[in-house]
Amino acid sequence: MTKSQELFKRAVNRIPGGVNSPVRAYGAIGETPRFIQGAVGSSIFDVDGQKYLDYICSWGPMILGHNHPVIRDAVVRACENGLSFGCATEREVEMAEFICERIPHVEMIRMVNSGTEAVMSAIRVARGFTGKSKIIKFAGCYHGHSDALLVSAGSGVMTSGVPDSAGVPKGCTQDTMIAVYNDLESVKQLLEESNDEVAAVIVEPVGANMGVVPPKDGFLEGLRTLCDEHKALLIFDEVITGFRLKFGGAAEYFGVTPDLVTYGKIIGAGMPVGAYGGRKEIMEMVSPAGPVYQAGTLSGNPVAMAAGLAQLKLLWEDQDVYTRIYRKGEYLFEGIQKILKENEVPYQVNYTASLGCIFFTSEKVTDYTSAKTADTKAFAEYFKYMLNHGVHLAPSQFEAMFLSDAHTQEELDLTLELVEQYFKTW
Ligand SMILES: *Cc1c(COP(=O)(O)O)cnc(C)c1O
Repeated sequence: MTKSQELFKRAVNRIPGGVNSPVRAYGAIGETPRFIQGAVGSSIFDVDGQKYLDYICSWGPMILGHNHPVIRDAVVRACENGLSFGCATEREVEMAEFICERIPHVEMIRMVNSGTEAVMSAIRVARGFTGKSKIIKFAGCYHGHSDALLVSAGSGVMTSGVPDSAGVPKGCTQDTMIAVYNDLESVKQLLEESNDEVAAVIVEPVGANMGVVPPKDGFLEGLRTLCDEHKALLIFDEVITGFRLKFGGAAEYFGVTPDLVTYGKIIGAGMPVGAYGGRKEIMEMVSPAGPVYQAGTLSGNPVAMAAGLAQLKLLWEDQDVYTRIYRKGEYLFEGIQKILKENEVPYQVNYTASLGCIFFTSEKVTDYTSAKTADTKAFAEYFKYMLNHGVHLAPSQFEAMFLSDAHTQEELDLTLELVEQYFKTW
């Protein structure tokens, strides 16, 4: 038995499913999860001493590679002053100013502890600001595990969400409507049917939780227009895309301005941080400035802020990083595309900049319904092959591959060689 297997055996007795977040259990793959000892740059090491080339990157935060010395030093220095005070600190002001001075649509920002919290709070603010209660989300977009957003995606448009998890009362999802990604007509229909009772439309500007599904040309612009026409707020959930596609996230990358934006993952550089922000008049609704209650004992935690701010400064000061990882994404995903084509494998490669995936289906993937046509068993086989050859992919067909600035040309080539070997014998 490997040490990972031993640990997993112990873990399942005391932690539900053996993990603290479901995707880590490798449930979709039928493998024992690798328990991780440490990581540096693009490499991650498990407790059995195996080294892997890592394409999870902690689900995004490690955009500069694991264990970056500048970020680590910032954390160590912050720790020396104490871990938390439950009082205001200078670094929180610095963090807020750093973001607001560089991202025009974020005039005010509030720190929280996770992406889930950021989205849940942004929706509360949107409802408080507009005085309306309904929201529209898209099938296949993930916005954290808060009650109102755990709605099952049926086929097509739904005017009232059905809980997608045990323990979520119907009342919590009845104001959540579900539209089809990349389908403006479906949004229009819901907005019209709801008699302008919609507080907000929330979207992942690049779908990255149903595999990677880029927005079609005009989709985000169309949402902007529809929201304006129906006096609904447009919320970009940039928990993955924020500070990744560009410093100003998908909003800057696609040139579409949301009313509110949510961040997570990269903003904390690996520490538990989320944030939501937007126009001042909206954000001033948040307590104690306004009547929308939202709080957090550890929000703006000094150690977490030190990590996040150090990473944001590195990204801002070297914005060429966005060109570099864009090129790496293009090289890797175009390379995979070419291999599939040459070997007459009918699968799809979807990507935007440094986020991408292979869909194990012959259908073009533009929304959740087409994503679901993927053959997850075929994915699992591919995943195992890559893992056994030292490449650590996200253990699900419906997750993205994340690239970092630390991935080298040699590593991308090595990955492509493995992909080629795999599909040659397909
Ligand atoms: C990861 C994710 C979340 C939830 O963030 P947590 O920090 O896991 O709570 C929300 N939205 C999107 C788009 C995400 O990818």
